[in-house]
Amino acid sequence: MIQGLHVLVKGIVQGVGFRPFVYTTAVNSHLTGWVKNTSGGVEIEINGDQGSLDNFLHELQYNAPPLSRIDDIQTSPVPVNGYSEFRIIASEAHEGDFVPISPDMSICPDCRRELFNPADRRYRYPFINCTNCGPRFSIIRDTPYDRPKTTMSGFEMCPDCQTEYDNPLDRRFHAQPTACPVCGPQVWFTDGIHRLAEKDDAIHTAREWLKTGKIVAVKGLGGYHLACDAENAFAVRKLRNRKKRSDKPFALMAFDLETIREHCVVSAEEEDLLVSSQHPVVLLEKRSDSTIAEDAAPTQKRLGFMLPYTPLHLLLLEPEPGFSRVLVMTSGNMSEEPIAYVDTDAKERLAPIADAFLLHDRPIHMRVDDSVVTTHRGQLYPVRRSRGYAPESLPLPVKSPGMILGCGAELKNTFCLTRDQYAFVSHHIGDLENYETLQSFETGIEHFQRLFRIQPEFIAVDLHPDYLATRYGQNRAQDEHLHIVQVQHHHAHLASCLADNGVAACDPVIGLILDGTGFGTDGTIWGGEVLVGGYAGFQRRFHLEPFPLPGGDAAIRNPARTALALLWHSGVDWNINLPPVISLTSEERTVLRSQLEQSINTPQTSSMGRLFDAVSALAGVRQKVSYEGQAAIELENQFSPSESNEYIFELDSDQILLRSFLEQLLADIHQDVPIPVISARFHNGLARMLVAVCLKIRSETGIQTVALSGGVWQNKTLLTQTHKRLDEEGFTTLVHHQVPANDGGISLGQVAIAASTIK
Ligand code: ZN
Ligand code: ZN
Ligand code: FE
Repeated sequence: MIQGLHVLVKGIVQGVGFRPFVYTTAVNSHLTGWVKNTSGGVEIEINGDQGSLDNFLHELQYNAPPLSRIDDIQTSPVPVNGYSEFRIIASEAHEGDFVPISPDMSICPDCRRELFNPADRRYRYPFINCTNCGPRFSIIRDTPYDRPKTTMSGFEMCPDCQTEYDNPLDRRFHAQPTACPVCGPQVWFTDGIHRLAEKDDAIHTAREWLKTGKIVAVKGLGGYHLACDAENAFAVRKLRNRKKRSDKPFALMAFDLETIREHCVVSAEEEDLLVSSQHPVVLLEKRSDSTIAEDAAPTQKRLGFMLPYTPLHLLLLEPEPGFSRVLVMTSGNMSEEPIAYVDTDAKERLAPIADAFLLHDRPIHMRVDDSVVTTHRGQLYPVRRSRGYAPESLPLPVKSPGMILGCGAELKNTFCLTRDQYAFVSHHIGDLENYETLQSFETGIEHFQRLFRIQPEFIAVDLHPDYLATRYGQNRAQDEHLHIVQVQHHHAHLASCLADNGVAACDPVIGLILDGTGFGTDGTIWGGEVLVGGYAGFQRRFHLEPFPLPGGDAAIRNPARTALALLWHSGVDWNINLPPVISLTSEERTVLRSQLEQSINTPQTSSMGRLFDAVSALAGVRQKVSYEGQAAIELENQFSPSESNEYIFELDSDQILLRSFLEQLLADIHQDVPIPVISARFHNGLARMLVAVCLKIRSETGIQTVALSGGVWQNKTLLTQTHKRLDEEGFTTLVHHQVPANDGGISLGQVAIAASTIK
């Protein structure tokens, strides 16, 4: 018997080849009816017998296109309408509706094949794409997602492209950014003054310049990169000097996996991430025989590699004898500034750094940095969630009283907007310490509000009064008369980890929140916090014994000063044989001592990040840093896996004490125990102490679940050890998988807390 069925599909179902898929599936199942895009998703009506309808729904659920993500399928019976065929019909927009937008996706295997096929009409065309791949978020100006609302609006399709675009059975059916050499964007090469080459010749010329050690700014998908030959030590050093970036590692791009394997050890899970449709930068263990210039990632044990994610990158890296198969591909900016993406601005800002430019005329609407990821126990462990992931929504596991804006933190900022059960965590904004970054924060929020039709009714901000993100939130709350929720930084970390794991409103858990710095409820700087709580509230059950941080934020750049402050606090002399003491002049030490004694601009801190800094300095690893976390990373890099001894941390009723730990550490330093052993004893001791704290809390409360969040958890050595020991004690451990453990995850935690606490 013929029956009628109406189907509504919600999720990422537009711009990903969903309607052609529905069309083909319906025709193959001998169904009649129609499919259309609406501003709320995809609507389908089908007529057919029960078996065919069931088969169709099964296909919908299990064989949808790779880039789609189905959140919900609603079906309802309708009268049989006597359609004669199955058709794709015109889109319809409903006021206030929205559909999630696909992130930018790396080139798919089909397009890649065409790119290198001399018989194809898009042979070597650097902007080849289809419904399964290509730019999305970075070129969308507004929704519904149609070509006129993208930065492709200025390119009129040629008849050939139009035919493909109109054909439901073509893989470029309604592929909004589709283009070809006849009608689409083009590349050219310039030294900044003259246009030296065009089209394929431009890419060829860029390669010639790279070969001779030049630095080339390359306009990519979500912004500009600065490229140079990664095996040319001179070129890499030059790039570092010009970019004014002394030590922070550069990202690398290699043509294929085999090349990456020449430089790094790649596990099966890491390989999956490298080739995933996101193509993130994956942090990989460096091989000792790698020929990458040391300056690309000084003192690092890991290298950040990605595969070419656009056709332009593939052509730029195409193998050829005498041409390096690895390029440095670092974000196109001066250190500290956001990545350049607007052509005029990029030319001006990058002129002092780049010798030449490889440009194209497809405008970038939203800048998107490369994502950075690693793995933990075979699963994704994000470090920076941006290109390929944002703006895909995450499920908000708690019911919200309305739309919320979470403004995020100061460093590694992201913001988050919510609507219904969706949390839209933004792409990586950066460190909100200058005007340019603040601007991209503000325009980013406006853009997300427009795309997802969100008008926040509540605003969540960090407790820190001076964060630019906090001030933005406060000003908006005042101007628009919105309710504001102030969220303690480490509570936000805890909530972020819970939301990341999809935990709904819950019984209290133990939060091991190990972080750089965050403003505490008592006005001091927190960061080594053992919290007990959930979304709705928390108790600060244990914390690191506070010690002075002379100069506040200035101390962060000088681990040596933090080390001396820790010694002073514990009543230990500044022995002249200690590395941090040697690294400061006697005048600097005199000033520091009086600053400590008179407590001038010297907040108290319980920060675990600062303890790492102090230990790194005392052990002689690093006295001054040029980027956040550097001292800790270099200390971790020295870790000796064969050392099993550990420093003992003592606990009192609510503090992790430092005095006796410090004595053990100093005894080792004075006996010239090798740094790798000291590093291992510190890491081992911390892991043991953290588990001891959890055991103590469990014995008092029965709580079995432990959440690990905060920037210190980027330390894989500490993470692996602590997780293992928690397993051995029977705890359930929650770690991040979708947003970073660092401050990039704060905005998600803020909105989850706001949603749970607003009445
Ligand atoms: Zn494709
Ligand atoms: Zn064309
Ligand atoms: Fe933090």
